[in-house]
Amino acid sequence: MDYDLLIVGAGASGMFLAYELKQLKTRQKVLMVDTGRPIHQRICPISAGKVNHCICCKPCNIMNGFGGAGTLSDGKYNLTTEFGGDLHRYVGQEKAMELMNYVDGVLCEYDHHQSKLFSTANSDLKTTALRNDLHLLSAQVRHFGTERNVEILKKMYEEIKDEIEIRFLTTVEKVNYLSSGFQAVFSTGETVTAEKIVLASGRSGSKWIGEICKQNGIRTKSNRVDIGVRIEIPAEVFKHITDEVYESKIVYKTQKYNDMVRTFCMNPYGKVVAENTNGIITVNGHSYADKKLQTENTNFALLVSNHFTDPFRDSNDYGESIARLSNMLGGGVLLQRFGDLVKGRRSSERRMQKCFTRPTLKATAGDLSLVIPKRQLDDIIEMIYQLDKIAPGMANEDTLLYGVEVKFYNSKVEVNKEFETSKKGLYAIGDGSGITHSLSQASANGVYLAKILENIK
Ligand SMILES: Cc1cc2nc3c(=O)[nH]c(=O)nc-3n(C[C@H](O)[C@H](O)[C@H](O)COP(=O)(O)OP(=O)(O)OC[C@H]3O[C@@H](n4cnc5c(N)ncnc54)[C@H](O)[C@@H]3O)c2cc1C
Repeated sequence: MDYDLLIVGAGASGMFLAYELKQLKTRQKVLMVDTGRPIHQRICPISAGKVNHCICCKPCNIMNGFGGAGTLSDGKYNLTTEFGGDLHRYVGQEKAMELMNYVDGVLCEYDHHQSKLFSTANSDLKTTALRNDLHLLSAQVRHFGTERNVEILKKMYEEIKDEIEIRFLTTVEKVNYLSSGFQAVFSTGETVTAEKIVLASGRSGSKWIGEICKQNGIRTKSNRVDIGVRIEIPAEVFKHITDEVYESKIVYKTQKYNDMVRTFCMNPYGKVVAENTNGIITVNGHSYADKKLQTENTNFALLVSNHFTDPFRDSNDYGESIARLSNMLGGGVLLQRFGDLVKGRRSSERRMQKCFTRPTLKATAGDLSLVIPKRQLDDIIEMIYQLDKIAPGMANEDTLLYGVEVKFYNSKVEVNKEFETSKKGLYAIGDGSGITHSLSQASANGVYLAKILENIK
């Protein structure tokens, strides 16, 4: 075997797996490969101000490269098992929290700014929300901010790069099962053999991991996709909430359909960004810790959960189709004022000029009702009016809605409690396995597997 271990993906889960193996002074020969670039070279041309719309770089610097999908993000680590994944179902509640706290400790060691840990504990917001039929989920949130997150990950890269071999701009295309171990075929044409392989390929590797599972007879389960919009409002409207808890996960059950709608990924004083997953442009957001880089707006997603039952199985395709529709109409992200949406008319450039809330992402003014199915759109509108009760101004006609935001859930790969698939030596962790959906849980998953792999050795 060329290597004892091949890690596919240098995102949060793969990176923390490599980091922890180094901490455990592993004697295993480890190779980690990633489709994207080293962290120092990950620059999105939109953030760099070179272009004002997504030009579909290959590979996308937002989604791929050292640190993974969250690197150029908000650096918001939610220490909770109430959302962000199901790690606790595999390792137990206490262990999951212990692992997330450990990850937090490592990141704080590299953060010289003593970034604040926010908490929903002892907050009156929970009561205020409940009185309005809204449910605030419990969590602690460490917010590093985009620029500090990158600095921290650069230091982690320096820490592991001499111990673990890392190759960038290299995609693992195939994994062949040998009588002992595996052979991996790279996009560079090279093949390597490894005794064990960890699939840590995140959301951008979701289709690929699905194919690997199919080829190897590993069972997967997929039935959920969340569809919605990104809201942008003057930061003042949510200030009393974001100042206290930073990120609030608020859940509401709509009266009309009994559907669950929730707030997601809140970015006070942040920016809305376009996100390119395998050529499909959706919307996301982030914010900087440095006040000089902040904006006057807060953005967050409003997502409707869609669970499908037999015979339909391809929930991600459903989400992709809706995103494609918005790309078709808007050439990318669509933007509409709430006032226009409820009046049943499109937002035009002329109407946008009269809008008091200035958009932080250049998007095409249009009509989201031509894209988002009625059910989900009704849910979103109902939620906006409900949120207006705890944050007056939310249902203002100049509230901006960017569409669409889709939260894809990777098919859940069937693994045992050690994250090993039915193929001995083949492991799946992080968002790619469908088990986690957040930085904290994906990173914690990597740390946990490092200890298991080290014991096997
Ligand atoms: C813009 C944005 C902002 C976000 N903000 C937050 C946030 O503030 N807080 C939070 O908790 N979560 C956030 N998330 C989600 C978070 O980034 C993910 O939950 C987390 O990164 C998952 O880690 P992972 O290691 O499982 O996968 P990823 O981080 O996606 O890493 C997977 C890596 O695998 C590589 N890869 C894929 N396929 C292959 C292949 N075949 N061969 C080689 N390499 C491959 C990819 O290039 C990628 O670098 C955000 C996501 C985005 C896109």
